[in-house]
Amino acid sequence: MRTTRLVVALLLAGCSLFAAAQSPAAAYTGPLFDAHLHYNDEAWMSAHPVEDALGRMQRSGVRAIIANSRPNEGTRTLASATEQTRRAGVTVVPFIRLYRNRADYNSWFQDQSIVDMVMKELAAGTPAGPYRGLGEFHLYDSANANGAVARQLMQLAQQRGLAVLAHVDDSAIDLLMAHAPQARLIWAHTGIGGTSPERVRALLNRYPLLMGELSYRPGLTEADGQLSPAWRALMTDFPTRFMVGSDTWVNARWQGYEGLMADARRWLGGLPPELARRIAWGNGAALFGLPSD
Ligand SMILES: [Zn+2]
Repeated sequence: MRTTRLVVALLLAGCSLFAAAQSPAAAYTGPLFDAHLHYNDEAWMSAHPVEDALGRMQRSGVRAIIANSRPNEGTRTLASATEQTRRAGVTVVPFIRLYRNRADYNSWFQDQSIVDMVMKELAAGTPAGPYRGLGEFHLYDSANANGAVARQLMQLAQQRGLAVLAHVDDSAIDLLMAHAPQARLIWAHTGIGGTSPERVRALLNRYPLLMGELSYRPGLTEADGQLSPAWRALMTDFPTRFMVGSDTWVNARWQGYEGLMADARRWLGGLPPELARRIAWGNGAALFGLPSD
């Protein structure tokens, strides 16, 4: 009798262990910090006015955003809506975009008038507080990281304690950090061109202030929507260095905003809860002095 009971108990334990291994992890349900949000003129001036954009954030559980826009009027519009953002429970962390128009994407790194624009924006600040960073900027050719304006702005960021959101390849990370080793560089997409996880690891080891933002990152997740083993290992080994983002660079990304955040919640749910919360919220909050919960 006793033996039978033991066998049954063992069988049941075996079954529940098997079930735990097979069942998908529950999605992360805590707050999100969106570390890569654009509010460009085609969004705020037509399809996605402030109320619409904030509604999408609120329904996604996004409680803070790095906001930047081409031109900077979009960020100012959002930052000026202090009552609406307060009601939506969204903290706006404003960044200065280096682009007045699409042409600036290809020449900002050597265009002195961009520095003048940045200095003017910095002096003016926003109704949501002073600007906290520069970017997002792009370098389609990493050698342009050595452009005079790129160097000057990295050094300005270092002097003023501004973060920098940069869409660049791994070689440009080395070049940009050489200009300003104490700058807080946020690597947009953490190697969108397919930089290997091993190279990402080497750069994180080499630059203790380097952070990685994870939108559009190829190879991050697998077919089941969960992290690939290499990325899971990177996050486990560098728990304070990653953040999630939406990259609303075109209106289609606004239309899919809630889906993008749900995708992030799915893979975050596969991490230990404390690590998920850091990547979802805590790392961004710590960077900009927001409450940790
Ligand atoms: Zn972007």
